[in-house]
Parts: sequence; C-alpha cells; structure tokens
Amino acid sequence: MPGEPPSRPRVIQLGAARITRVEDFLGLGFPPAAMFPAITPEHLSAEMAWLAPGYYDPVANQLRTSIHSWLVRTDRHTILVDSCIGNHKTRPSIDRFHQRNEPWLDRLNAAGAAPEDIDFVMCTHLHADHVGWNTRLDASGRWVPTFPNARYLFSRKELARWDPRIHGHVPRPINDNVFDDSILPVLEAGLVQEVDDGFDLDNLMRVEAAYGHTPGHVTIRLKSGAEEGVFSGDVIHHPIQVPHPTLCSVFDEDPALALQVRLAVLQDCAARDAWLFPAHFPEPHCCKIGEHGGRFSLRW
Ligand SMILES: [Zn+2]
Repeated sequence: MPGEPPSRPRVIQLGAARITRVEDFLGLGFPPAAMFPAITPEHLSAEMAWLAPGYYDPVANQLRTSIHSWLVRTDRHTILVDSCIGNHKTRPSIDRFHQRNEPWLDRLNAAGAAPEDIDFVMCTHLHADHVGWNTRLDASGRWVPTFPNARYLFSRKELARWDPRIHGHVPRPINDNVFDDSILPVLEAGLVQEVDDGFDLDNLMRVEAAYGHTPGHVTIRLKSGAEEGVFSGDVIHHPIQVPHPTLCSVFDEDPALALQVRLAVLQDCAARDAWLFPAHFPEPHCCKIGEHGGRFSLRW
C-alpha cells in the first residue's frame, strides 16, 4: 500500500466538474465480522500497516466509516449524489440512524449550495443511508422534499424493489419506514424521474447498472475531458474490500452478483485511471485504484 493517504482538498476538480463531500456521519461503525461475515483475523493482520488507525480501530475492533453525499457542480447544474441518513427519521433497527438531529444542511451550505440550488438528486440506491435528506420535517410535522427545485432521479428497477404497493414486495427491517418518509413524499410532489441504465445527464454523468447490493443499485460515471470518476454507492463499503473484494457485506442482497460488480468497478477504475467516489470510505474518502499481480490497492 503506497504511502499515507493525502489530506484531500475541500473541492476536487475533475475536468469541468467540481466535487465536494458533504458529511452526515464519520466515526466508528460495525465490528469487522458484523459487516463482513467471511472476514478472518488474517485478513485484518495482513493489511494492518495501512488499515489502522484511519480505516480500522484495533482497540475498539471497529471499522471506521463515513456516510456522506457528493455535491457535484458543473457549468450548468448542481447535483447531489446520495442524501445520507437525514434528521428526525424513525429507524428502529439501526441506532445510529434513529431520530438524529445533525447539521447536514449547514454543511451543504458551507459547501456552497442551499437546498433550493440543487437541480438533481441522484440516489445510487434507496437504502436508509442514501435517501434520508430527500425529505425534511416541516413545521406542521409533514415530510416534504428538502430540495424543492430538484428532479430526483431514481433507478426504475430500484424504485420497484422498495415500493410496498407493488405485489410481492419483500420488506427488509433495515429499510423500515424509508419508503414512506423519504421516497413517497417526493413521488407525491411530482419530483421523481425514473431512469434506466445508460441515462445521461448533461453529457457528463451517466447512470450504469450495478445490481447486487440491491436489485436496482446503480453507479454514476462522471466523465469530463480526460478525467473520469465513478460514484460507486455501496458497490464497495470499506477500503478492506479493495485488496479483498470477495468480502461481501451483510447488506448485499445478492452477494454473488455484488461481488461480480465490485470486481468490475475496481478493474474499470484501475484500467481507466478513474477516481473512485464511494459512499462510506473514511478520510480521504476517495481514491484511485492500483492493480498489481491481480491484487487491487488504494492509490492517490
Ligand atoms: Zn450505504
């Protein structure tokens, strides 16, 4: 693993796009075995030189994690990729997500965007930690869209997965209440546009199928001039999965497919010298991917 990760500038310029991270959570997350059932002590000890302390706390035996949005500004539009956990949401199955009151909106403002400035919200998938700020509680206690001028772009396949009104819907405790408080209000406001694999925004950001973590999960490829980046959502949760991509998270609905997609994204980033912008990597939160002798590594 080459060198220390650099401290990242607040705004990353990728061709004509400016990218800023907007944080909702940064700290200790799950113990490794609770996140990756197949992980062994050897996986951790082999990588400890670069894993601790930035990505793993060996004393607490917990992975460090981040939950953030990526704010993308182009000459034409302001785009939010994933919208984190949100405030005041009832999330009985995950304490960290339950009834929060965090200054995410202040951080969005500090990044230079007011809610009214957001033109597009792109969710890689519709899990609780990727759609929370889609809505906020108004003074009368109703869930209303946080970004009144935005078009919310949801994967058609993903939306069908989570809509409880669809016959045969299979609920998951992790997503209790999420459809009702973070998806339905924007649907009812008429702000949702369903998109398919290949959807293109401004000839700059392209939606690509990346099913597996969830049935309709997508990645978003940003391409500007010679520069390229991939917003990978939960294709890869934690840096340990870069050298060990076969580690599937407990949250992957179809682990075999999720693994195929993870390998393809790592391979693609390595081959194209593209930036990887995952949803949950701790500092510096994004990286490039090296490949040597069939082994992937983080690089900058
Ligand atoms: Zn996630």
